[in-house]
Amino acid sequence: MDLRLDHICGNEHAKRAAEVAIVGYHSILFLGTQNSEAGALAKITRWAQAECTKRYAEVRSESMSLCPCGLPEDMCCCDNEAIKLHQNKIASAPTDIKVIVARPRTEKIMRWVAQEWIDGEPDEIIKDRIDEARERLRPPFVVDSAMQLLEVAARQLGLEPSQTKSVVSVAVTIAQMAGSERVDAAHMAEAIQYQWRPG
Ligand SMILES: [Zn+2]
Repeated sequence: MDLRLDHICGNEHAKRAAEVAIVGYHSILFLGTQNSEAGALAKITRWAQAECTKRYAEVRSESMSLCPCGLPEDMCCCDNEAIKLHQNKIASAPTDIKVIVARPRTEKIMRWVAQEWIDGEPDEIIKDRIDEARERLRPPFVVDSAMQLLEVAARQLGLEPSQTKSVVSVAVTIAQMAGSERVDAAHMAEAIQYQWRPG
C-alpha cells in the first residue's frame, strides 16, 4: 500500500482531519466500514506522525467501524441497541479527532481509477504545508467569540474536561495551520466538529 494521502479516493474532510492530526500530533479515529479508506487513512496518519516526531511507540491514529459488525449499513443485521451502545462508546472515547470516512460516489471512484489511483492535492504540497505549519508558534490567545462557541458546545455535547481540552488543543493547531495569531471562532468550530456524536 502506498502511504500517501493523494492515493485516498474522495473524503477530503477526512484528509483535512488527518493533516490537523499530523501537525498537532493529535489522536484521531477514522470512522468507516471495514472496506472503507478508514484503515488506510489511520495508517498514513500514524506513519506521518511517527516521521514527524520519532515517537513510534504511541499509537495515536486508529480506525473503527460505526457498527459492531463493521459492515455497510445495507448489509448490517445488528440490533439497534447494540449499534447505539457501540456508537456511544465511540463518542465517549478520549480521542482528539473523530471523523467519518464515507464511501465516495461511484463517479468519484471511477475518476480515481482513471487517474491511476490519485485524487486531490499531491502529497508534496501537503507535506510542505505541514512542515511550514509545524514551524509556526502555537497561538496562545483565544478570542471571546471562540470561547462562547466552546461553552455552547461543551453544554450541548456534554463534553468532559478531557474532551474540552482536546477541542481547545485542536483549535489551536487549526489556527496555527492558518498562520493566525489567535484562535478565532472558525478554528474552534472546526475543532468542535471533530467531536463526533451519533446522529
Ligand atoms: Zn452491524
